[in-house]
Amino acid sequence: MPTIEAMKILIVEDEPKTGDYVRQGLAEAGFVADLVRDGVDGLHHGLTEDYDLVILDVMLPGLDGWRILQGLRKAGMQMPVLFLTARDHVEDRVKGLELGADDYLVKPFAFSELLARVRTLLRRGKAKEPEVLQAADLELDLLRRRVKRAGRRIDLTAKEFALLELLLRRQGEVLPRSLIASQVWDMNFDSDTNVIEVAVRRLRSKVDDEFDTKLIRTVRGMGYVLEVPERA
Ligand code: CA
Repeated sequence: MPTIEAMKILIVEDEPKTGDYVRQGLAEAGFVADLVRDGVDGLHHGLTEDYDLVILDVMLPGLDGWRILQGLRKAGMQMPVLFLTARDHVEDRVKGLELGADDYLVKPFAFSELLARVRTLLRRGKAKEPEVLQAADLELDLLRRRVKRAGRRIDLTAKEFALLELLLRRQGEVLPRSLIASQVWDMNFDSDTNVIEVAVRRLRSKVDDEFDTKLIRTVRGMGYVLEVPERA
């Protein structure tokens, strides 16, 4: 029988009773639940382990829940975050959502309510699959910052990656050099610098040269386009 890997949840809660109650309940519901009682540990765990969801208390020793959330989001971690807030701190809710929390629960709460929220967030998190841009057998994974063609990993520089991302997002459109310059290099394109030509050539050598189907095309006098050619 295939084993389904249990979802991992991090709980950061300094109140012993609440923390134990939540951890135990989640464990009984089949989750792997880690409990830490301190904000600094909380952020460290969140950044170093692969959690599917994080439950954060607001007031914590070391580092408060806001700072943990900010730290996680800043590091690009997109797992859903559920806040536990005190009843008389409605503004906490607004602040949490502004900072990128996904939901909140007012203390005291029934465990069944927490479990329902957790399940909803995990389902939503799953629907939010890592975004992958694709053309034929070329794939660009935005979250992992990875590019593959025909299943083979291709290493790109940051600029090449940004250039390919732009071409893929606007597939089929001829992109003028001036637009590429402003979007990828953040510069105005008045001079006849060949920065873009060079970058496109390098990108093609990595992405197209070894493959029969060429995806990136130069449209003379106009710019560049990425498209899957129609079969002859
Ligand atoms: Ca607390």
